[in-house]
Amino acid sequence: MNLSLSEKDIAFREEVRAFLRDKLSPELVAAGRKATSVFVEPEYTLAWQKKLHARGWAAPHWPEAYGGPGWSEMQRYIFASECAIAGAPPLAPMGLNMVGPCIIGYGTPEQKAFYLPRILAGEDYWCQGYSEPQSGSDLASLSLKADRDGDDYILNGSKIWTTHAHHANRMFCLVRTRFDGKPQEGITFLLLEMNTPGIQVDPIITLAGEHELNQVFFDNVRVPISNRLGEENDGWTVAKYLLEFERSGGSSAGLEAALKRLRTLIMDSGNEDAGLRARLEAASILLEAISTTEQRIVASLSAGRPPGPAASMLKVQRTEMMQRIDELAVEASGQFANVYEPATWYPESNASPVGPEALTVATAKYLNNRAGSIYGGSNEVQRNIMAKAVLGL
Ligand SMILES: Cc1cc2nc3c(=O)[nH]c(=O)nc-3n(C[C@H](O)[C@H](O)[C@H](O)COP(=O)(O)OP(=O)(O)OC[C@H]3O[C@@H](n4cnc5c(N)ncnc54)[C@H](O)[C@@H]3O)c2cc1C
Repeated sequence: MNLSLSEKDIAFREEVRAFLRDKLSPELVAAGRKATSVFVEPEYTLAWQKKLHARGWAAPHWPEAYGGPGWSEMQRYIFASECAIAGAPPLAPMGLNMVGPCIIGYGTPEQKAFYLPRILAGEDYWCQGYSEPQSGSDLASLSLKADRDGDDYILNGSKIWTTHAHHANRMFCLVRTRFDGKPQEGITFLLLEMNTPGIQVDPIITLAGEHELNQVFFDNVRVPISNRLGEENDGWTVAKYLLEFERSGGSSAGLEAALKRLRTLIMDSGNEDAGLRARLEAASILLEAISTTEQRIVASLSAGRPPGPAASMLKVQRTEMMQRIDELAVEASGQFANVYEPATWYPESNASPVGPEALTVATAKYLNNRAGSIYGGSNEVQRNIMAKAVLGL
């Protein structure tokens, strides 16, 4: 299914393309392509965000009153797709897509005035403190303790898998303020500064040998009560709101571009492996279906209908497609190691044209992106949501 674009949408697409031609430098494209996980280093994402911000395009989903561009659903989809096709590095979601909307929804006027302009301008870099060593999918069981003391909470415990905590100057986190009653009813949402005394950030090195994740320890960390978002013991409401943003939006155009590069590589190298080619085609067909689903959801949202469990469905489909492409890339790399040149993949880079480096990138992506079906709510849990919401099980 191809949704026909209105003249206004086509003109908008041209405007976005012109902007990307003008502002998206080869260095930024290379940084995005060479990144071995979905999180690109802040050095590059913040540079790109500043350019978008100068144009008023840093936060497509924010209301105009807070600095959003006032786009329609279709315009947001076009923008996300064009950025991905052009190879723009994906911006870090923690500020713009996650805590920003929560502050808009639940912040006091003072919190909005302080945090939102800083998030838009990329002056703050946020990390997400939700998961704990004993609380992942069952997030409501979290136990990082916050005791009241005068005008502060005092935090003790730890958060884990905290992406880019070593880069962040701020964290939004869930803490336990009450231990009795339903677990969901004793959780509070706090905003804190990473340089507060008592916070220690320890690296967790991924299978690919990279530092992206951390465990964060809290030892009597004082956080002002005024840094609370929403009411005490009502943080679960804010957290649920945030998770919707974490799982929705975006476009699979980046996956399409990656698959296209892979296809070119395999076809150009004269590969005769029918099995590999068949899997490539199967992936293309499935990707087409994902893209059609996205467009259907955009049309539905444009007509004012909520997406329902579509956020869960897209999360599962996109991450599994990402892993499928990674698997094909690793296989292709292995088969064509002797003719495989990184320059084919990254024409913008100055990487030397030998096999091992390219193999390392494909393998590192494969390893890091295994996490795609775990973070943002594991795919098994998303399937449970769909089973309940769609099948009524
Ligand atoms: C690369 C990466 C980055 C991350 N970044 C962050 C971050 O920045 N901030 C943050 O707070 N967290 C982050 N996380 C943590 C992530 O949200 C959790 O890993 C995720 O919620 C799963 O929790 P868990 O690891 O404790 O696994 P568990 O919850 O212990 O799950 C283990 C397995 O059991 C399955 N399972 C669990 N419950 C059910 C169920 N009810 N039905 C069926 N199957 C089930 C899961 O699908 C999984 O396969 C990150 C994780 C990764 C891998």
